[in-house]
Amino acid sequence: MTREKRASVLTVEDDDAIRALIGGVLSTECDMRSARDGATALRVAAETLPDLILLDVGLPDTDGFDVCRRLKANPLLAEIPVIFLTSRTSSTDEVDGLDAGGIDYITKPINPAILRARVRNQFELKRSRDALARMARLDGLTGISNRRTFDDLLLREWRRQARTGQPIAVIMMDVDHFKQFNDTYGHGAGDDCLKQITRAAEGALQRPADIIARYGGEEFVALLPDTGLDGAMAVAEGIRAAIVTLAIPHARSSAASHVTISLGVACAVPTAESDPAALVKTADGQLYAAKSEGRNRAKGIEQA
Ligand code: GH3
Ligand code: MG
Ligand code: MG
Ligand code: MG
Repeated sequence: MTREKRASVLTVEDDDAIRALIGGVLSTECDMRSARDGATALRVAAETLPDLILLDVGLPDTDGFDVCRRLKANPLLAEIPVIFLTSRTSSTDEVDGLDAGGIDYITKPINPAILRARVRNQFELKRSRDALARMARLDGLTGISNRRTFDDLLLREWRRQARTGQPIAVIMMDVDHFKQFNDTYGHGAGDDCLKQITRAAEGALQRPADIIARYGGEEFVALLPDTGLDGAMAVAEGIRAAIVTLAIPHARSSAASHVTISLGVACAVPTAESDPAALVKTADGQLYAAKSEGRNRAKGIEQA
């Protein structure tokens, strides 16, 4: 859910007047959907994946607690927050609702101001949760995927390619003499350099499915699905050239008078038995070879 997109709310309520009241309160700020019974609620929730569900406890076919438990048991729907609507005021009902996985409850008769405030609260919390989840996946300095995200994506691609029989390529990259760069120009200039390298490398990728991530300090990694060695070497050369084109001065590099990177390429056709970590290791070996042969170059190998 982003700030630009209107949030969607599913109201599950068999009383027409209450449904109309809720619609009147929320429809200016949310896209409204509704269901009159539990079975319809579960179907509409799965079809439309609303941002929030307002769930009546007393329904014609079942009770709201049961609907909530079913939502929470479905991995696709489990994260959707549920607010119970209850006409009963006993605290055991509230406990039952929270036990069933509800996040809040509103008692009837519904007070429009309270309804609006509680719904807005949940949207704020959802925005924070989404932002935290995004931050956990991305690298703070460069804004691209971090190593954890890369490892997840690599494993997913590996399994997919094992079914299709298509090759997959990994490019490991490391900035040449970056310690000297920091020592000469300062850590702030180093950070700025890493950001420029990120943008240049991203721009050199060829296909929408190609992914680049920050693997560690001054190391980056790219994942190229459906790509053999020749294609991956061409991409690696394109990235190397793009960094040279940035022409960021580096007075203390043995490789050139400007910032350069070295690249190691490995490619393989995944199988169900083989391990993606071995491909990363092979690419790392090629990177090491590129360093010892003078840096500012790409070396590649087909994984046996
Ligand atoms: P080589 O050509 O062999 O790769 O030499 P190098 O100096 O690049 O390698 P080394 O591993 O000795 O140093 C890496 C440097 O990268 C050291 C560290 O200060 C710097 N570095 C790592 N992460 C960051 C970062 O986020 N910002 C900045 N400015 N520097 C970083
Ligand atoms: Mg009811
Ligand atoms: Mg390094
Ligand atoms: Mg380095």
